[in-house]
Amino acid sequence: MKEKKKSDLSVLLGYAGNYKGLTFLGLLLSAVSMVLGMLPYICIWLVVRDLIQVAPNWTEASGISRYGWMAFIFAVAGIAVYFAALMCTHLAAFRTASNIRKAGMKHLMKAPLGFSDSNASGLLRNRLDGAAAETETLLAHNLADIVGTVAMFLGMLVLMIVFDWRMGLACLLAAVVSIVSMFTMMGGKNAKLMQEYQGAQDVMSKAGTEYVRGIPVVKVFQQTVYSFKAFKEAIENYSKKAEQYTDGVCRTPQSVNLTFTEGAFVFLVPLALLLAPAALASGSFAGFVTNFAFYAIFSAIISTALAKIMFAASGMMLAHTALSRINEVMNAPTLKITDHPKVPKDNSVEFKNVSFTYDGAEVPAIDNVSFKVEPGQTVALVGPSGGGKTTAASLIPRFWDTSAGSVLVGGVDVRDADPHVLMDQVAFVFQNNRLFKTSILENVRVSRPDATREEVQAALSQAQCDDILQKLPDGMDTVLGTKGTYLSGGEQQRVALARAILKDAPIVVLDEATAFADPENEAMIQKALGTLTKGRTVIMIAHRLSTVVGADRIIVMDNGKVIEQGTHSTLLQAKGLYERMWQEYNRAVRWRISKEAQ
Ligand code: ADP
Ligand code: MG
Repeated sequence: MKEKKKSDLSVLLGYAGNYKGLTFLGLLLSAVSMVLGMLPYICIWLVVRDLIQVAPNWTEASGISRYGWMAFIFAVAGIAVYFAALMCTHLAAFRTASNIRKAGMKHLMKAPLGFSDSNASGLLRNRLDGAAAETETLLAHNLADIVGTVAMFLGMLVLMIVFDWRMGLACLLAAVVSIVSMFTMMGGKNAKLMQEYQGAQDVMSKAGTEYVRGIPVVKVFQQTVYSFKAFKEAIENYSKKAEQYTDGVCRTPQSVNLTFTEGAFVFLVPLALLLAPAALASGSFAGFVTNFAFYAIFSAIISTALAKIMFAASGMMLAHTALSRINEVMNAPTLKITDHPKVPKDNSVEFKNVSFTYDGAEVPAIDNVSFKVEPGQTVALVGPSGGGKTTAASLIPRFWDTSAGSVLVGGVDVRDADPHVLMDQVAFVFQNNRLFKTSILENVRVSRPDATREEVQAALSQAQCDDILQKLPDGMDTVLGTKGTYLSGGEQQRVALARAILKDAPIVVLDEATAFADPENEAMIQKALGTLTKGRTVIMIAHRLSTVVGADRIIVMDNGKVIEQGTHSTLLQAKGLYERMWQEYNRAVRWRISKEAQ
């Protein structure tokens, strides 16, 4: 366990980078402040000694005020140095947290786009942020306190020898008992119980979040008590674990711990009573009383120090869990970027025996798929939902890398191309195109940041967005998502098309949207698509078969495999899946038209 903590710490300090030195300076200052903080007690000892020596002629004790001032100065200096120490450790801790965030984000930036797109990445980003913040307590406070406490114990050992080792030992013994009882709560099989207890707490808070998120569903479906079940169980489990841990494990050691922390004199007083007669007999009673006074006062700082160790231990644990979360981020997959990029020769796209299985899935989403799209051709991917069309398209911009086989753009494996070159060559319009909460102008311009206003305007016009701009208060400069300016799904799709048109890339990959089938939008989207695909290499995932009739080739995918390919007319003649889909599609269209006619 100790080994592990040490490595946690060195990992954390690794993130501190240049600020590592500052951490050490802070720790050193903390030790110095602790020693300074002990000096006033020595001054008090000197005062008591002087007083006892001259008793009862108190006025003869001439050094008292000097010692008083010294005590004051040492106390103030101790506090000042402690401030300086915390300043150093805080600076270093904040920098470390920021470095952790940077390193994590840098790593996530290298993750495949598909990963960034999934919930997993959002979750990881959140957790990274939280975890980075949690390391702060350890680095800024706990470490300094640990070092300070160690310094204090060393100081105590020295003082023990300087004054009266027996009474010093009595003070120390109380501290040792308290520390030992503290660690029995955390070590061995109790550690497992504590983990279970913390785990139960985690589960409960997750169940709570889940429950709040689920409220709309619960309401819509008129569910009642049963919807509480998971949450209730989590609470009950937590209560059980909490009881097990607090009652079964902590009760005795915690009582012992608190008793000895708060009462460091429990050994001191009986010991003093035992020693007093001998001191009296030997004539050194004055010195004995002085020493006792010293340790009695001094024992007060022991409890403060022990409380700090307690916090430090929990800080260590916090940092440990935080680090494991940080490692989770650092272990997220990354996209390998080639050092020797090859330049695509033309605007063709080819799948060569491509297979791809999602993480954790049992069957491949794409299974040994091969086809080629010549420059300037339009190829349509069609097929039942879940057939693998979107997945196939995602492999082109390396949302994911293939599990087997290769995807070639311009004759070059996408893994061997410079990602920037690849991105310049290919424009993508996916179903879940995200529009940012900024102006339409900026939203379109992301595809080509150096485009002028006029160029953006032209792209929007070509994408049939004029009507959208007209109805928005500030036209192209309207910020989306504010003051009730939301775009419908079909409108969003057209803005996304404007983005792709502005990009003016020679290859276009389109995942056509199904949801926006109102006739008006559909007609405009068709028109925008016409502009976008003209003269380009196009891979289009089509849901409305009317859009694919004119394609150079239609590839029918089902269960991750290419099962048919050809032109519209050859596929109809083949009387396979495509022909059945076509009949189905026409029935649906006729049904819709007849509905609209009513
Ligand atoms: P299509 O676009 O033809 O409807 P998809 O490519 O979206 O099909 O899906 C193909 C298969 O891969 C489906 O079985 C789907 O459940 C699975 N799939 C799609 N996206 C993911 C993902 N992000 N993680 C895991 N499985 C996925
Ligand atoms: Mg799809």
